[in-house]
Amino acid sequence: AEMFGQLTSGLEAAWNKLKGEEVLTKENIVEPMKDIRRALLEADVSLPVVRRFVQAVSEQAVGVGVIRGVTPDQQLVKIVSDELVKLMGGEVSELVFAKSGPTVILLAGLQGVGKTTVCAKLAFYLKKRGKSCMLVAGDVYRPAAIDQLVILGEQVDVPVYTTGTGVKPAEIAKQGLQEAKRKNIDVVIMDTAGRLQIDKTMMDELKEVKRVLNPTEVLLVVDAMTGQEAAGLVTTFNLEIGITGAILTKLDGDSRGGAALSVKEVSGKPIKLVGRGERMEDLEPFYPDRMAGRILG
Ligand code: GDP
Repeated sequence: AEMFGQLTSGLEAAWNKLKGEEVLTKENIVEPMKDIRRALLEADVSLPVVRRFVQAVSEQAVGVGVIRGVTPDQQLVKIVSDELVKLMGGEVSELVFAKSGPTVILLAGLQGVGKTTVCAKLAFYLKKRGKSCMLVAGDVYRPAAIDQLVILGEQVDVPVYTTGTGVKPAEIAKQGLQEAKRKNIDVVIMDTAGRLQIDKTMMDELKEVKRVLNPTEVLLVVDAMTGQEAAGLVTTFNLEIGITGAILTKLDGDSRGGAALSVKEVSGKPIKLVGRGERMEDLEPFYPDRMAGRILG
């Protein structure tokens, strides 16, 4: 199924109920608002987010009155569109670069979310924008992850700093950063261990790596397929280690959109980039307005 497909048709039901109306009223938006609420919940948007959204849209809808040349259903589409953009953070949230020395980007995330792939994709993305990059392999618990990063690094022609698996992540981070400074690298991207679930060892290790690296960006990689769970993860990681944003992967899959819609509102942290495929070029900035456009069909 096309992502947002269900959400799009769910919302269409709301507009359709307003066909033939002359003005939006408290009464005639009741049923459409129920459709909107249902569509968002079915898309796996977090409940508190849905409540606030519906409230905000309803308040505006009853206040607009008659606008010449614009039908009530079009008015409601416009209000929902604007609120969706707001919900997703409004503006695109750009990556931040260090004023001097290498920019350090620390990537974290649970296993299987696409973190290793994102490391290489991000290097490829930044290279195209004129930045020299280096990847640092910090997933010492899975030798296969290090091998995978090396292979992907070769694919995008970006150096990968590796050590043996006996070295602590914080030590790898330190050495990797020194190496990057020696080579005058613009951006260092550090991969870290992913686990099946959050545990204390993981968080402690991340905190230590963060302390050593003093990164410009700490980005949590989350899988869009996990729906509102993704927003919860971003919140937890932010409280535990402090992050600057999220990267949402697997947007090409049949996720229903809940993650894209909930992350910012729930966690306070923006989605900065999205992955939409397995190829190296499948990483792009997260544009709230374009995303809203896709949702509205
Ligand atoms: P990690 O365990 O978080 O490092 O995850 P990997 O980078 O190894 O990715 C796990 C799987 O997800 C691999 O098969 C990737 O090819 C795949 N994957 C990663 N990102 C995307 C994406 O945006 N879309 C799709 N369809 N697959 C992805």
